[in-house]
Amino acid sequence: MITQEQIRESLNEVIVPGVMRSVCKLNLIRDIGINNGNIEVTLASAALDQTSHAWITKRVKENLRKLPETKGINVTFEEANPKDISSVKNIVAVMSGKGGVGKSLVTSLLAISLRRRGYEVGILDGDITGPSIPRMFGINQRPTGSETGIMPATSTSGIGIMSINLLLPNEDDAVIWRGPLIGKTITQFWEDVLWGQLDYLFVDLPPGTADAPLTVMQSLPVTGVVIAFTPQELAAMVVRKAVQMTRQMKTPIIGVVENMSYFTLPDSGKQIELFGKSKARQMADSAQAPLLAQFPIDPQLAQLCDDGYIERYYSEVLDNLADSFLQSISSRTQSNASTSCCATNGSCGSAGDCRDAGNCGTNCN
Ligand code: ADP
Repeated sequence: MITQEQIRESLNEVIVPGVMRSVCKLNLIRDIGINNGNIEVTLASAALDQTSHAWITKRVKENLRKLPETKGINVTFEEANPKDISSVKNIVAVMSGKGGVGKSLVTSLLAISLRRRGYEVGILDGDITGPSIPRMFGINQRPTGSETGIMPATSTSGIGIMSINLLLPNEDDAVIWRGPLIGKTITQFWEDVLWGQLDYLFVDLPPGTADAPLTVMQSLPVTGVVIAFTPQELAAMVVRKAVQMTRQMKTPIIGVVENMSYFTLPDSGKQIELFGKSKARQMADSAQAPLLAQFPIDPQLAQLCDDGYIERYYSEVLDNLADSFLQSISSRTQSNASTSCCATNGSCGSAGDCRDAGNCGTNCN
């Protein structure tokens, strides 16, 4: 007898064109019916165009035909919004007091480090006026989609990425928008992009603690925040603002990351604090959160970012980042579990405090 598991396993090999992820990983399977060797597969049509429908139908049939005892196969598509089918376990917002401190870099490195540990990861580039994520990952193809939604672009290592830069006619086009519009675009990237099944979605917030980051924190079910900074920032003030904001939003700070902490002289190996003494401890104390990493100024890293090969970067600091992040998020979200709500549709805790009622079960608030 053909089983549901066999069918799901077989469908896990059906890759959706353009995104390099399977129909299972994109959470497109709505229903599987088995009756006397006749298989009925219902898929969500969200963000899929007609060409993708035809391609997927063909591949599903090819794959299922290989199962012994298969008689007939019928594939149908039903309408669905990305928001209703995406299943994102954790949304992590990365914020900084000001631009140019390496916030996008820290976002990207967090995503890369977790992807290397086998997690399903996405990046929502919310830095609408300074979107640098696609460049760092060398992505320049336009995302595909349909009336119902957009497919994220996929990086070489399989990270789903959405950025305003992927939608602009030219990479160099400037986006001159005010806060409310920026906030709206980020919310749309959350709701209209088919993220599928993700363990972690990192949101690269616009710099600062003004309008746009606030809107994002209010309208997205953010699990926690990571704060990026450099030693020369007016550290304490920035962190105080960020801490205040996250407290208002009842969102835990998962940790702080100091970027450009030092530079290692290639000949002697001596470390120089180019931007002054590290503020890492002070920042971690103010945020009452762990210091997740201290990244040095690394010319090789800068070059890889410029060339679009950030995923080729390896360092001990980066390797350790995944461990400290995972340790902190599990302890901080566990202690917050009684008051917070899941980021996805479906499996809400009944006592949750949900900021995204539309996305959660009915007894969530
Ligand atoms: P932000 O998002 O804070 O505006 P970015 O992450 O876009 O800043 O970084 C700005 C630039 O600085 C990028 O081009 C990046 O390559 C470079 N950069 C950031 N951090 C480092 C670092 N630790 N070593 C080398 N270059 C860096």
